[in-house]
Parts: sequence; C-alpha cells; structure tokens
Amino acid sequence: MKAKKMKNKLQIKEKNFLKTKALKIISILEKNYPDAGCSLNYSNPLELFISAILSAQTSDHQVNIVTKRLFTKFNTIEDFINISQKELEKEIHSIGLYRNKAKNIKACCKKIYEEYGGVVPSKMEELLSLPGIGRKIANVILSTWFKKDEGIVVDTHVLRLSQRIGLSNQKYATNVEKDLMDIIPKDKWYIFSHLLIKHGRNICKARNPLCIECNISSLCDFYQKISENFSKKIYLKLK
Ligand code: SF4
Repeated sequence: MKAKKMKNKLQIKEKNFLKTKALKIISILEKNYPDAGCSLNYSNPLELFISAILSAQTSDHQVNIVTKRLFTKFNTIEDFINISQKELEKEIHSIGLYRNKAKNIKACCKKIYEEYGGVVPSKMEELLSLPGIGRKIANVILSTWFKKDEGIVVDTHVLRLSQRIGLSNQKYATNVEKDLMDIIPKDKWYIFSHLLIKHGRNICKARNPLCIECNISSLCDFYQKISENFSKKIYLKLK
C-alpha cells in the first residue's frame, strides 16, 4: 500500500514536471513562430479534407501546388465520385502514394455522399469510419475547420520532437497523442502541434537536428544526452 502511494506520488510529480516543461516550450516557440498554423490551402471542409489525405508523407508545399490546379477543376463531392480513378491519379501523380490516396479520396467521398448527406462529418467517430482516415487526418479536420479540440495532430514532426524532447517515450503516434493530451492544456492542443511542426521543419530536422541553433535545447532530453556524452568524451581525453 505504501509502495503504491509512493508510486502514485512519483507519477504525479513526473506529470507536473512534463506539464511545466511543455508549457515553457509552447511559450518559447510561440515567440519564434507567431504565424504557426495549418499551411495547407483550402477554402471549404472538403478541400481541407482532400488536402489532408494528400499530405501524408508529402510536404504541404507540394500538396498546395497540386490542389491549386485540382480544385479549379474538381470542387464538389460529386466531382470526386465521378472522376475516374485513373484520371484522379493523373491529377495527383506528383504526390507520393498517389494511387492509394486517389483510391481513398474516391471511397471517402462516396461514403460522405451516401451516409453523411455530402457534408464532411464533424465528429471524430464519423471521420474515423471513413476509408483510410486515422486520428491524424481527423484531428486536422476537427481542429482546423471545426475548431474542435478532440485530440492533437501527431504527424512525423510532432512524433519525432515529442520523443526527442522527452514529452513521451511511446513509439507509436496514437500513444504519443495520449501522453500529450495528458500534459498539455486543451486550449493549446492546436497550436502545440503546429509549433512543433514548424520547429521540426526549421531546426529539429529528422536527420540533422540543429541543436546549436535551438532555443528549447535546455528543455530537451536528447540535447542533454548528447551534451553529457560530449562532456564525457572531453573528460576522458583530458584524463
Ligand atoms: S535541442 Fe536538438 S533535438 Fe532537442 S528540440 Fe532542439 S533541435 Fe531538436
């Protein structure tokens, strides 16, 4: 019983520590990236929905180039149901995984038309019922268009940075999202992921993080580790 109480106390302490750390990071990055937000171009929920599908493993910049042309030709649910798979593939072929994405766009539009009256759903469980739609895309739609904070967008940047900084030691996005939701205030969920995405693109790059230029390094576990290793090496050389 005593051991259990002690464990609970430690868990609360650890959680409070992570909460404070996350808030400090948000505060610093908000100053760095005052314009952080969704960088996909869209003018209605359908365009955002299709752009979000196209953005998997592709830069938003590339998606915006493709959708600029695509949305002038096709802009209703019916358009995306009626366009042939081959024709849609041709329209989006410069984007990675275009065959699968074309298939999902068509299948989603059909289901939205048949089951949701042609309107992009605004509930998490409805979005998740659409073919190929996971929490990342659902969170993008809910937070960006519907202004609903039901989860945190965990893309490749948010996943990598959360792990490096030490906000989560989980491996998979869904578990990392749960950890983040536990320590970040709800009204900061939207901005948190966009700040991390900006920082991931600019500084904390996948292959070569620019730790020397990073102004959240004092709060980052990865940086602490590499600094300790560096100090150890210097010490051993001097010895
Ligand atoms: S210190 Fe390095 S690893 Fe940590 S957040 Fe900054 S760039 Fe990323």
